[in-house]
Amino acid sequence: MYACTVAGPFLQSAPMSAVVTRPDSFAQLNPQQRDAVEHGVAEPDGRPLLVIAGAGSGKTMTLAHRVARLVIAGADPQRVLLLTFSRRAAQEMVRRVGRTLHQALGLPGATRAPTLPWAGTFHGIGARLLREYAAAIGLPERFTILDRADAEDLMNLARQEGGWAAARSRFPQKGTCLAIYSRVVNSQRSLPEVLRDAFPWCEGWAAELNTLFAAYTAAKQQQHSLDYDDLLQYWAAMMEEPALAAHIAARFDHVLVDEYQDTNRLQAAVLHALKPDGRGLTVVGDDAQSIYGFRAAEVRNILDFPHQFGQPARVVPLERNYRSTQPLLDASNAVIALAPERHAKQLWTDRTAAARPRLVAVADEGEQARCVADRVLALREEGFKLRSQAVLFRTSHHSAALELELTRRQIPFVKFGGLKFLESAHVKDVLCVLRWAENPRSRIAGFRVAQLVAGVGPAHARKLLDALEQAADPAAALLAWPMPPAAQQDWSGFVALYAQLQQAGSWPGDLDWVMRWYEPVLQRLHDDAPARQADLQQLARIAAGHASRERFITELTLDPPDASSDEAGPPHLDEDYLVLSTLHSAKGQEWAAVQILNVVDGCIPSEMSTRDSAQIDEERRLLYVGMTRAKQHLDLLVPQRFYVTDQVKHGDRHVYASLSRFIPEDLAQRYFERVTPLADAAAPAAPLALGQRFDIGMRLKGRWA
Ligand code: ATP
Ligand code: MG
Repeated sequence: MYACTVAGPFLQSAPMSAVVTRPDSFAQLNPQQRDAVEHGVAEPDGRPLLVIAGAGSGKTMTLAHRVARLVIAGADPQRVLLLTFSRRAAQEMVRRVGRTLHQALGLPGATRAPTLPWAGTFHGIGARLLREYAAAIGLPERFTILDRADAEDLMNLARQEGGWAAARSRFPQKGTCLAIYSRVVNSQRSLPEVLRDAFPWCEGWAAELNTLFAAYTAAKQQQHSLDYDDLLQYWAAMMEEPALAAHIAARFDHVLVDEYQDTNRLQAAVLHALKPDGRGLTVVGDDAQSIYGFRAAEVRNILDFPHQFGQPARVVPLERNYRSTQPLLDASNAVIALAPERHAKQLWTDRTAAARPRLVAVADEGEQARCVADRVLALREEGFKLRSQAVLFRTSHHSAALELELTRRQIPFVKFGGLKFLESAHVKDVLCVLRWAENPRSRIAGFRVAQLVAGVGPAHARKLLDALEQAADPAAALLAWPMPPAAQQDWSGFVALYAQLQQAGSWPGDLDWVMRWYEPVLQRLHDDAPARQADLQQLARIAAGHASRERFITELTLDPPDASSDEAGPPHLDEDYLVLSTLHSAKGQEWAAVQILNVVDGCIPSEMSTRDSAQIDEERRLLYVGMTRAKQHLDLLVPQRFYVTDQVKHGDRHVYASLSRFIPEDLAQRYFERVTPLADAAAPAAPLALGQRFDIGMRLKGRWA
């Protein structure tokens, strides 16, 4: 992803500022977008730039054009830092910039426009900088990045070692502990404050949690491991050291951030340290789409931005929406207008259309799944490819019934934001072998891998890991470790592999070695080995796209391919498939037709998020984000009842549901069309012709004749 710039011969021979540009690639920009794109380009203007505007107004497009414009005007693409909220978004942005440059510079077809080596997420860029500066900050260069599950496991170990797991009254679970820790780090608030505001039921454990987090931090350092939050935390800490901060800041002339409304305090701190006077800083976002408060995102970052620098920022609003038809926009505007606190911005569009968004009443989740699939196919008949359609939902498991229905009808789909491919045991096994090879001190990887060897149990694995922790050269200690006889035969096979991986191997050759060793393990541990083998082949394909073992492990951990390998099979890029996504993962994207599942109270807003008005407002914005993804068709599905499982008090049961509180009756009447597919289908059956007889008995007997 961070491949170095490849400038074509044309670019190498002429400075870009001297290139005669073809301005028509910028011609489609409206005057406000052009203002933002041109800010400080022709005439120096040191003010930071803020583009704050509603959904679909071209913020992301404007940002991409601004990058292209800066490069055309002579900015060095190597010195442009572009921060997005997902790797997918970064890749899309790099493509857009490349296309625009290509057009504007009139490059011949085969010439590659300069790419942007520093485009990525805050976490991804942080990881890269930390590797570069590792020596300067006392980090081993080959540190391991823990994914959430690994971090939870490590937290759990610390929790058990502290003896709290066995406490008489219930100590928070490992996931909760990690969530609290993460919230403290990212919000930069104190533990008592975070407990009071977000985890009040854990307030009684403040002192123990503090000790636990100290132990967790020590364990990470001991094992040369960083969790996701560390990537920001270490980066921010580097920026507090004046010499380091100056060195890093001097590398970037321009820093641009998309979706700024969802950054947290730590990210804002990094940004301010990179551009203390705001010169060369551009951020874009929409406060009405801030949906990550539950992970410590701070909407004040964007609201306060205009006045946080020596000179006030230049603020450019965008008011025209290019995405949705007017009836869809009216409905979305009406939903967000009910939010108590927001920056008033009314979007307009010239995309007129008669069709209003639809509220589709269905009996239950089963019928919802059938209706959604029917609608998808009907729209496909009208010419909307599956890829131009999406089904969105509040929580990953809301799509379970639909996934079954789609599989049954052989409608291919990919799911974003669901169970990650990397969370499956076999994929994790293979990755942990690579991680343990990369960092022999990683207890999490080692604990998992050692137990894959037949005859090695948890007690022995722990003994081995303790020894490695003490050893000056842990890899050598591992190779020399005396295994008990029962495990010796399989262990020697593993040792041979480990020795191989310690050599300067080839990539993805290393993965082949691991796969060869792992195949019999897979057969031994899993009945459904062939199905799992397919995932591993997929992993091998992904591996081939990465430059080295370290890059592969890092990037996969940071931004896992989140398409689950569903039964419909992982689609190839040129195939047509429907998109299933959580509302959170749908951010920034758009489709011709969007259906949103379970638009009922309890799901949107989620019953988990109705504790205070701030949470409820975030849920409202989430619905707004979902609705504003649609260009032409928008359906909100409203099951009349749904099944609730794991209810501590009442057991599993059906509950009756009502339309989400975010769409009150008057709004529903005014902006939506109401549809009841069941009623449409329930035309009365024609009466049987009198006197007609059906001899069923004969037919049944006939089957065996
Ligand atoms: P979101 O808030 O959802 O992230 P956004 O403000 O970033 O949306 P974009 O995704 O950049 O909006 O643009 C929305 C759509 O409008 C895209 O299809 C984009 O190509 C199109 N668009 C933006 N500006 C123009 C324009 N000036 N002319 C034509 N189409 C445009
Ligand atoms: Mg956008």
